[in-house]
Amino acid sequence: MSTIETDPANPRDDTPAVGKAPARVEVLPPRDVPLGGPRAMTVRRTLPQRARTLIGAWCFVDHYGPDDVAKTGGMDVAPHPHTGLQTVSWLFTGEIEHRDSLGVHAFVRPGELNLMTGGHGISHSEVSTPATTILHGVQLWVALPEQHRHTARDFHHHVPRPVPLDGGEARVFLGSLAGDTSPVPTFTPLLGAELTLHPHATVTLALDPAFEHGLLVDRGEVRMAGTPLRPAELGYLAPGPATLTLTNTSAETARTILLGGPPFEERIIMWWNFIGRSHRDIVEAREEWQRGSDRFGSVTGHPGDRLPAPVLPRTTLTPRGNPPARQNG
Ligand code: MN
Repeated sequence: MSTIETDPANPRDDTPAVGKAPARVEVLPPRDVPLGGPRAMTVRRTLPQRARTLIGAWCFVDHYGPDDVAKTGGMDVAPHPHTGLQTVSWLFTGEIEHRDSLGVHAFVRPGELNLMTGGHGISHSEVSTPATTILHGVQLWVALPEQHRHTARDFHHHVPRPVPLDGGEARVFLGSLAGDTSPVPTFTPLLGAELTLHPHATVTLALDPAFEHGLLVDRGEVRMAGTPLRPAELGYLAPGPATLTLTNTSAETARTILLGGPPFEERIIMWWNFIGRSHRDIVEAREEWQRGSDRFGSVTGHPGDRLPAPVLPRTTLTPRGNPPARQNG
């Protein structure tokens, strides 16, 4: 599978809209990543990438579909581990059956947040259901801060109410936006919301100026603080602005995911399904998964074998952070 990434260090258009504060938006392009395994599903990954590791504590953004599962085979991810992170599953279309070592058996459905806390260790399987013909959504990860990265495994489900905006609608699955607040607790301040924008509508949202933000466009053509974003691109806005203006320049309803949080200052290592702080953290997690340690528990109800961990590189894994912070005016 080839990458469609061009040069993430050179955003395409940095021009602010006339009369607006010069809030600079970086365009982070997606790259195609095959998930591997028995099925052929490919995702568009915008985090992490060379130019950016995190937005707030958001550290992984995979966007997929709309896929005809008759052609792609849909999703079938056998039991695999996580440590040091939370997973956020959010669907636009389709249905995924989730089973984990906490004993949770849940169905991920459009407009419903399913947040799984890996903490010290969890394992889970994810399979699109037989009723699913089109699979379309995002899979997001949140890095846990040092003091909570070994927390107990946990799971939250929440169905946000649709919040009308002047020109669109919001579903706030984590944090606060547009007068709505998700009841789901987080370990660092976070924002996660689906925003739809009516054709040719402009919406201005109040932001927490301490947060940096990312806007993933699923559908439509959207200007983020004046910078055009195409579908599958992620726009990045540094901390500073107290408002964000979004314009749907297309004739269809635009759909986006808005993510935010204060810059995550810790450097992390992401390797396979693990987040740690040192090479040793990763080696230990991998070894414990491979030998079937209690650390990750076990998943019942998935017919497949556990996914084996890949072979570690010969090099020493080193922690990564973001490029130096740049405040927007
Ligand atoms: Mn997973």
